[in-house]
Amino acid sequence: MNVADSEVVVSILKNAGFKLTDNINDAGLILINTCSIRDNAEQRIWSRLREIKHLRKKNREVKVGLLGCMAERLKEKILETDQLVDIIVGPDAYRELPELVTLAESGHKAVNVILSREETYADISPVRMDRNGVSSFVSIMRGCNNMCAYCVVPYVRGAERSRDPDSIVKEVRELFDSGYREVTLLGQNVDSFNWKSGGNITDFSGLLEEVAYIDPLMRVRFSTSHPKDISDDLLRTIARHGNICKHIHLPAQSGSTRILKLMNREYSREWYMDRIGSIRDILPGCAVSTDLITGFCTETEEDHQETLSLMEWAGFDFAYMFKYSERPGTKAARKLKDDVPDHIKTSRLNEIIALQNKISSISKKKDIGKVFEVLIEDQSKRSADQLSGRTTQNKVVVFPKENKKKGEYVNVIIEKCTSATLIGRII
Ligand code: SAH
Ligand code: SF4
Repeated sequence: MNVADSEVVVSILKNAGFKLTDNINDAGLILINTCSIRDNAEQRIWSRLREIKHLRKKNREVKVGLLGCMAERLKEKILETDQLVDIIVGPDAYRELPELVTLAESGHKAVNVILSREETYADISPVRMDRNGVSSFVSIMRGCNNMCAYCVVPYVRGAERSRDPDSIVKEVRELFDSGYREVTLLGQNVDSFNWKSGGNITDFSGLLEEVAYIDPLMRVRFSTSHPKDISDDLLRTIARHGNICKHIHLPAQSGSTRILKLMNREYSREWYMDRIGSIRDILPGCAVSTDLITGFCTETEEDHQETLSLMEWAGFDFAYMFKYSERPGTKAARKLKDDVPDHIKTSRLNEIIALQNKISSISKKKDIGKVFEVLIEDQSKRSADQLSGRTTQNKVVVFPKENKKKGEYVNVIIEKCTSATLIGRII
């Protein structure tokens, strides 16, 4: 999401006459896009700002701006801290950046953190900064209307709004025409995509279908689905199109219904299992990945065991796993005590990571001997003679080149695997 936002920012500034540089020492303006999701994300930004401080000592003209969620969360407070920053811009105010830079250049502090109910940057063509030229992200909605008790997103990115489907289809078509072969549609809860125009409503299934029809050679992925909203209708749409990837990222967060309730996720363990059951029925062979949080307020050993058993039952292909990090202003911070000691959060996190490694490795071993259609994304990082790409299930595959190039599809038979990668040859 932040990459997609940075691409919008680069586009706005290029149109205003700014130029991008790879060398920070040449920059007259340094902008840092930020994330507030967990405390360690913010800590990394603070240390980056301290690194930049010495550049400001050498060149007093250079201006520094903080963009995105942390700018929104801390607002003017950041300006008070040690003169590290000149410009603060929230996620809905990027269009104002050129004016704010001019204001900063005239010696004023420049701030705009107003959240909008409408801004989707629909008309802005992002300047692609992804390196492989094959796969890219397209933002389809902004903000979030859910109120998960632990989450800062609704506070820093505002209310949910969907982007005009015509502008999305146009952007994906342009990507296809310039050589891209995979697009990931992004939103905090893509299942609630909803666009009304005249008497017509486009929901996420409708949008996905429109994007899939652009060209059968364009793979379509999406993230993130919410277990409370993912419907069988959507799963059937995915089943109808060979180019909609057979991979669903479905964050569970916890395997305990009691914790899910406290998290305000609006589903139970059984509901989550029912959704996985539908995925297995309607989309056989579909990969499922998830997000999990350990040590949320009041989590007991029993709750934790329920997370482990859900992981075993679901057999996730991949998981992002986090320790609960209390975020100021959220419902959990206001109403619940962050009472699981850090060493227990850590040991539970280590346990779920170890289990996930075991489950992922079993799932990879099952792929040995199978043939997958792979979209070639790049040269392999390890060797210039090897290529790297992904299967529709989002698994990384490495194989010998044989005169093939990135952007092409090949069939690869899997011969072995490492912990993170399938290894095979083209057939
Ligand atoms: N909208 C998506 C993802 C949001 S953020 C969804 O609802 O699934 C990505 C992930 O960060 C979340 O799924 C959650 O697992 C994690 N996360 C969010 N807030 C967190 C917090 N306060 N502490 C730890 N992890 C958090
Ligand atoms: Fe945060 Fe929940 Fe919205 Fe995801 S759905 S962004 S976790 S509030």
